[in-house]
Amino acid sequence: MHEFIFHPELTCLLPKALRGHPVVCAVAPHQSIKHAIEALGIPHTEIGPVAVNGQKRPISGRLAPGDRVEVFPPAPPALTGGNPPRFIADAHLGRLARYLRFAGVDTLWKNAWDDAELVAIAAREGRIALTCDRALLMHRTLPAGCYLRSRQPRTQLAEVARRYALALCGPQASRCLECNEVPLPVAKTEIAAELLPRTLAAFEQFWRCPGCRRTYWRGSHWQRMQAALAAVDRARPPISSSSAA
Ligand SMILES: [Zn+2]
Repeated sequence: MHEFIFHPELTCLLPKALRGHPVVCAVAPHQSIKHAIEALGIPHTEIGPVAVNGQKRPISGRLAPGDRVEVFPPAPPALTGGNPPRFIADAHLGRLARYLRFAGVDTLWKNAWDDAELVAIAAREGRIALTCDRALLMHRTLPAGCYLRSRQPRTQLAEVARRYALALCGPQASRCLECNEVPLPVAKTEIAAELLPRTLAAFEQFWRCPGCRRTYWRGSHWQRMQAALAAVDRARPPISSSSAA
């Protein structure tokens, strides 16, 4: 038999009967640690460092009888360097995708994609799949993913921001809420015929999406979205770094 000890952040992914205590089960000799953990309900995308009898071990490794396995959630990303994460959200996460795009985070979303298409795009483009569907995250070819515990879009946004150390109200440009392209500044004279006189009178700066041609300005909708993002940023514990405060 083998003993598995899961970090508290992971126990909500286990069946109820297996929570709150070490899980004792038999793992076949040919099964990898990854397969054994997924068989208990935790997708490989949610598995961080694993220690076997106190020694760090890759999840592709095998177990010996009596091994004690400690499983941790993924470590937060390094705070410096590297490209910002890019995401692909599943069909149920349209509102989360819009929040992320508003925050300038590259996020694909289309409610017509099925699981196989989503996994293929994620693999081809190196995107992290966002989903509340554990089965989707267990696709063998999915390179990276994030299981969202909440069903509430703003709480989901906070989960993603925390796990990937995203500053939602940073200096990055917003992306188009409809198609994920980056809107570009456009002269007021160019879009005057499309907008209401009161909008033209109230605002000087406008942006146009090169993908879907939608026009943006910082009106009441922009202010509500900005306030929502700022509230998520404020509610998070500050991102710690090695430098002194
Ligand atoms: Zn667009």
